[in-house]
Amino acid sequence: MPELPEVETIVKGLRSCVLNKTISKVTVLHVKLLAKRSVIAFKSFLGNETIAQVKRRGKYIVIVFKSNKRLLLHLRMTGKFIYKQAAPSLKFNHIRLIFNFIDGSILYYQDLRIFGTFSLFNPLEEISEFKALGPDPFSKTLNPSCFIAKLKKRTVPIKNALLDQRLISGLGNIYTCEALFRAKINPLLPSNKLSLAQAATLLKSIRALLTLAIKYNGTTINDFRSVDDKAGRFQKLLKVYQKQGQTCPRCKKAEIIRIKQNQRSTFYCPFCQKSNL
Ligand SMILES: [Zn+2]
Repeated sequence: MPELPEVETIVKGLRSCVLNKTISKVTVLHVKLLAKRSVIAFKSFLGNETIAQVKRRGKYIVIVFKSNKRLLLHLRMTGKFIYKQAAPSLKFNHIRLIFNFIDGSILYYQDLRIFGTFSLFNPLEEISEFKALGPDPFSKTLNPSCFIAKLKKRTVPIKNALLDQRLISGLGNIYTCEALFRAKINPLLPSNKLSLAQAATLLKSIRALLTLAIKYNGTTINDFRSVDDKAGRFQKLLKVYQKQGQTCPRCKKAEIIRIKQNQRSTFYCPFCQKSNL
């Protein structure tokens, strides 16, 4: 599943190819994506709209039109965009939505498993999905003291808390493991046991990690691709994710181990990330 750096990479790709373009036609090939809207309502909502901005919050993409209508997207497991200046001779598989622009260019939405969602919002309409969503890790309002205040209310292991999009939005399994390794925090540590210093280090680690991952256009483990069909390059810089059995690249004193937390794999170094209970 794309996490914040992969979504940011897609957002940057979309900005470079669809900003200021006007939609001439929308083709819906799979109605499941449209939440509760009908195909007719979806098409008429987007017809002749011009894209003014492409933004990201957590793992969500927000396309803002000049009319101030908004399209909220979540790519979930396998959603991706493919941009072409003109119709290609070969057909792509698993295309679920097609946006044609008046200059002849085309944006395809491809989604093998069809878990992606496209929701529409009128100008000034509140985005319901954002009501319970935690702050983006880069939000200026997120500082160590408010981060620790949120953590103090939770008893779940810190790894699980970081995956909870209501606490902080944008992290998935890869970057939670990597951020905790950077911050030298044990993934099993109950959230309310973190010190203020640890919370500050963790927040700093999350930001540094995500900044670097964005610079490398995200991580491609299975099939993540940017809008121009390039794989991410951050997988080469991963330190613990899927590195079980390998010597820790920092302390060189222990092997990275894999455990299960909430049915998901966690990777960490038992020496660098000792439990401080
Ligand atoms: Zn280590």
